[in-house]
Amino acid sequence: MNFHHGVDLAPYNSFGVHTSAAHFCEVTNLSELKEALAFGAASKVPSLVIGGGSNILLSADYPGLVIRIDFKSIEWLNSDGLVRVAAGENWHEFVKSCMNHGFYGLENLALIPGTVGAAPIQNIGAYGVELERFVVSVSVYDGKQDKVVEFSHRDCEFGYRDSLFKYPDARHLIVLGVTLQLATEQTPNISYGALQAEFDGQDFAGITNQAVFDAVCRVRSSKLPDPKILGNAGSFFKNPLVSESKIESLKEAFPDLPCFDAGEPGLVKIPAAWLLDKAGWRGRRKGGAGVHQQHALVIVNVDDASGEDIALLAQEMASSVLGRFGIALECEVKLV
Ligand SMILES: Cc1cc2nc3c(=O)[nH]c(=O)nc-3n(C[C@H](O)[C@H](O)[C@H](O)COP(=O)(O)OP(=O)(O)OC[C@H]3O[C@@H](n4cnc5c(N)ncnc54)[C@H](O)[C@@H]3O)c2cc1C
Repeated sequence: MNFHHGVDLAPYNSFGVHTSAAHFCEVTNLSELKEALAFGAASKVPSLVIGGGSNILLSADYPGLVIRIDFKSIEWLNSDGLVRVAAGENWHEFVKSCMNHGFYGLENLALIPGTVGAAPIQNIGAYGVELERFVVSVSVYDGKQDKVVEFSHRDCEFGYRDSLFKYPDARHLIVLGVTLQLATEQTPNISYGALQAEFDGQDFAGITNQAVFDAVCRVRSSKLPDPKILGNAGSFFKNPLVSESKIESLKEAFPDLPCFDAGEPGLVKIPAAWLLDKAGWRGRRKGGAGVHQQHALVIVNVDDASGEDIALLAQEMASSVLGRFGIALECEVKLV
């Protein structure tokens, strides 16, 4: 396996930010992964595991070893919807493969950039569906114990854009693959508002999973900038969960404040995009970084932004929301 040194990470992060990794390698199987970790340990440098780099912000040069996970395989375990997929597979291509194989359910998660291995890290979600609904288990390499461990759905502690793997305590856990239980019958899910609008007036019985997939791709492409054209990492912040009592007082000042069920008693979810929009962030710039014209939650690399430009802009956005609404925004993107 080749180790590279002084590597520009711009092609490996969807912001397209130029920072450099002291060491870099791509691993395609467990023995290469172990070799990479051993190299990092012997060189006494930290290691950073990445997939597609579509949920990270590199704010400075990385002094350690960046390991890009490139494990590939899809195993159709039975004809009842059980499938095991390796961490390095591209998520969107995998969603397409499942549909072509007659395994359904992932259509609402189409077009999310990145790899399968990163999907359980933040429990990817979109258009009314979260990954966790399908997860049977996640296979990880535990670097502390030097062994492969199978985490059940329950072990993963999934939440809204959250799981056990997201926390510093789990840094030694590297996802190797995911086992999912999908459906073998058509199960279109158009409960989400923006999707319902796409099928307005249509007979539900005639809606196929393929039609949902197409609609999701259409809506996403019209709303979100393509990172290949305009660097970004999708939503920069999570939608905040706020107590019902806080909502009551906010509603007095902002009667049009949109609220959604948070799935947790006593809490309500507010769209971070609405808060940022109201605070006037859409289209604003800081250095080479800017807020997307159509979506206040998406920070974009307008003109060769540095990671620091983006981080500073994000900080100002979060402070203004805190000042105006008393709500602390939490980053969805992982700051490195
Ligand atoms: C245009 C756009 C739209 C997006 N839309 C959505 C959306 O609708 N919903 C959503 O949930 N997300 C969305 N995202 C965010 C992103 O696509 C997802 O979080 C995706 O799962 C990240 O995958 P990745 O391979 O690029 O991860 P990376 O960015 O490479 O890594 C993300 C984190 O996971 C860790 N990691 C990666 N691989 C592994 C592994 N094998 N084992 C252990 N840790 C690992 C990294 O260290 C890092 O902390 C969007 C991003 C973009 C650019």
